[in-house]
Amino acid sequence: MTSTRQDGDTWDLASSVGATATMAAAVRAIATRADRSLIDDPFAEPLVRAVGVELLTRLATGELPPGELVGQVAIDGAKVRTKFYDEFFLDAANAGIAQVVILASGLDSRAYRLPWPAGTVVYEVDQPPVVEFKTRTLAELGAEPTADRRVAAVDLRDDWPAALRAAGFDPARPTAWSAEGLLGYLPPEAQDRLLDTITELSAPGSRVATESRPNPRPGEEEKTKESLARISERWREHSFVTDMAKLRYFGERNEAAPYLTGLGWALTGATTRELLAAHGLLPLADDGLRMGDLRYVSGVLDKTK
Ligand code: SAM
Repeated sequence: MTSTRQDGDTWDLASSVGATATMAAAVRAIATRADRSLIDDPFAEPLVRAVGVELLTRLATGELPPGELVGQVAIDGAKVRTKFYDEFFLDAANAGIAQVVILASGLDSRAYRLPWPAGTVVYEVDQPPVVEFKTRTLAELGAEPTADRRVAAVDLRDDWPAALRAAGFDPARPTAWSAEGLLGYLPPEAQDRLLDTITELSAPGSRVATESRPNPRPGEEEKTKESLARISERWREHSFVTDMAKLRYFGERNEAAPYLTGLGWALTGATTRELLAAHGLLPLADDGLRMGDLRYVSGVLDKTK
């Protein structure tokens, strides 16, 4: 049984919002096996296997074909999303930004797989059980970070800047920030606060990348909840019990892209639909989730504004 979200709720990688990180990694494992030209995440499969949710392990290892459980849309979506953030980070790092913060890092393995320039410090921020699990599991696998990896094990609704500073973060240095697959799991005010705080902690020249979801048209949220219920039902038939519609916060919120622009970030971006087309992948059918309209945005802070 998935309970409705509450202030201060917690999770590990097999439960509640934490399971979404394991699902994302399982899809990266499937996508990596299918075609390594856009995504090559060798740690996704062993991480999912270590979490130990049977269905996700069987999907990640290829024992169970994705079939109806993980549609081509999700697999192609993971390819373009991973590519977008990989390019964002490598562009920023190669332009001389040596401080990176991955918010809601989940089972993201960029600190272990991207060719970071020497001297790059990568901070990962997520709930304590999530961060600790990944650190321990990758150490047990013998994986070595490719940057100076540091962690802030903290809830992003709490005083995460204090935890980040305690780990060594220096707000006087330009930073490359990402919030990937996060915003919909934060209440609307917490999303605004997070984007405000990123901006306050950003020296001029800092960069940010995230997703901006358009606010729903009338009646659209019901369609989204029905789609999520159908997906959850399919997972449940395979004994993986999660109610996806209960994990996200619905209702009006500030759209991330215009909100960031208002804070002084000069953004560019592309929708999932545009990224799929740019990489020659199949176009999206309208699945009720408006995945195609999700916009990946990135940009630089102009503090003169
Ligand atoms: N960014 C990763 C990726 O793309 O694979 C993980 C995305 S997963 C869909 C959502 C992540 O957000 C989870 O790792 C979860 O623990 C994290 N998260 C959501 N709300 C959070 C909060 N309030 N504090 C810390 N982490 C949070």
